[in-house]
Amino acid sequence: MNLAIIVPCYNEEEVLPETTSRLTDVLNRLQQTELISEGCILYVDDGSRDRTWTLIEQYAAGNPLVRGLKLSRNEGHQRALWAGLEWAAAHADAAVSIDADLQDDVEAIVPMVEYFRKGIDVVYGVRKERASDTFFKRNTALLFYRLVNALGGQIVYNHADFRLLSRRAVQALVSFPERNLFLRGLVPLVGYPSAMVWYDRHERFAGQSKYPLKKMLSFAIDGITSFSTRPLRYITYLGLLFVLISIATITYALFSYINRDVMPGWTSLLVSVWFVGGSVLLACGIIGEYVGKMYKEVKRRPHYFVEKEVGERCSNTRMNSSSLTGDNASNLPSE
Ligand code: UDP
Ligand code: MG
Repeated sequence: MNLAIIVPCYNEEEVLPETTSRLTDVLNRLQQTELISEGCILYVDDGSRDRTWTLIEQYAAGNPLVRGLKLSRNEGHQRALWAGLEWAAAHADAAVSIDADLQDDVEAIVPMVEYFRKGIDVVYGVRKERASDTFFKRNTALLFYRLVNALGGQIVYNHADFRLLSRRAVQALVSFPERNLFLRGLVPLVGYPSAMVWYDRHERFAGQSKYPLKKMLSFAIDGITSFSTRPLRYITYLGLLFVLISIATITYALFSYINRDVMPGWTSLLVSVWFVGGSVLLACGIIGEYVGKMYKEVKRRPHYFVEKEVGERCSNTRMNSSSLTGDNASNLPSE
């Protein structure tokens, strides 16, 4: 069986040497123990501005396991990953996606492959604890997870984008036509047999996080609005509530007027004008999120363009009938 390890990289020159040697080591061991017959590391350079691509080219020339894919511009982590997955859908029996910074434990790839050999299609890498994250990141992550699940999503707690997917799972995933990618919300929708592998999350090996607060926030909003329309329903409920309250208020005002018991009422008027104005604006904002999404979806722009490709290994397209139907079982050893 042929395993591809997909690694999206954005300005990762500081970590790539170490990442390459550790992943090469894991692949070699997997080969020696005959868990896999072939393997490759697919680096997807997401429009880096540093020496990342130069390094990938160097490794691809010297290390038969390394392949590289260079996107023409910075498209973001999810799209870079998608580019790798589309490649894997045609070339590999299973694909592991992992960040370049070695925060995820490369050793967890071994039990993932073992699960795959037992016929499991999706293996989630789940963090045991978040001690290496800041207090802020830990709690915002928990809040986000609760919010998503309350809104009808089904993401796996403490799982990011470290996972193994069988070929049929990858093929199912890349058949989703949407443009707004939130992979950890999409993977559970594939629905094939799944398992979890727990690991300790480390500090970033070197370099800085490529996800500043602004990017994280926009990722969270994109995530929620890409799979849930419940916020729209809540606005309707809120609107109904407001109508009921205003009917009561109008009745009260008319009654007071007839009884010539008119209050000065300036404060309450001012407060309600602001309150109603504010909530209408908020509602418009949320609706705008969806309208914006539809706008992007109907344009159906391609996710990325591959500029260059290097490396020889894993290039034989294995599109036989079993790969088209995505039969994972055919990759298992015959007992
Ligand atoms: N990444 C990417 N494109 C981007 C931002 C990040 O391909 O625009 C990659 C990055 O190189 C890394 C992974 O996505 O391999 C996760 O990013 P990072 O580790 O910086 O995020 P954090 O762990 O801090 O959330
Ligand atoms: Mg990281």
